[in-house]
Amino acid sequence: SLGGDWARAWITLSAQKISEHRAALNTLDRDIGDGDHGENLDRGFQAVLPQLDALPADATPADVFKLVATTLISTVGGAAGPLYGTAFLKGSVRIAGLTVLDGQAIVDLLAAARDGVVLRGKAEAGDKTMVDAWTPAVDAAARSHASGATPTAILIAAADAASAGALDTESWIARKGRASYLGERAIGHRDPGAESSALILHAAAESAN
Ligand code: ADP
Ligand code: MG
Ligand code: MG
Repeated sequence: SLGGDWARAWITLSAQKISEHRAALNTLDRDIGDGDHGENLDRGFQAVLPQLDALPADATPADVFKLVATTLISTVGGAAGPLYGTAFLKGSVRIAGLTVLDGQAIVDLLAAARDGVVLRGKAEAGDKTMVDAWTPAVDAAARSHASGATPTAILIAAADAASAGALDTESWIARKGRASYLGERAIGHRDPGAESSALILHAAAESAN
């Protein structure tokens, strides 16, 4: 079931995936930004790990995500820290008090996280940002839930849609963030924040059982 243990496993696997893809995320960001996206996120998620161990054993998913939010906001320089921090904070508030997340709660969590990114960064769909991974993920999760899928299947649908969304950003110009200064030169390059968002959502799905 998707409770506190799942939330911890998700964040631990996210930290591992971000570490493994640190150089690749830096490379994507070097192409259309300042080359630090992998190291920014790696610093933040590595800082979360010891804090997770310090949480009480009965911590809820909301407790875990709130800790992630505050740690990312305080340790990640650059645009992505406050954006992911707001995502985890809004997600945490949305599911506060629940010890186990059912399908509806998963949809609510993902939607609140996406709304947090939008609130903080003001990007719209198609602006070539992490929103372009999160929005297809939320839409796929809602469709999957409406068709009666299990919470785990909902997370898998969300992760796959996020990957497809990240891929789609390759053909676009950017309207937000550093990549927006490049105009047409951003075309042909995948948005690093959309790519890291897909990694994190795959970690959510792979941690579910
Ligand atoms: P910085 O650009 O400050 O170096 P990062 O490299 O860590 O920060 O993060 C860059 C990523 O942040 C981009 O790839 C994009 O996905 C995301 N991003 C930047 N600005 C916005 C925004 N206004 N709204 C949503 N996402 C954004
Ligand atoms: Mg950067
Ligand atoms: Mg930077």
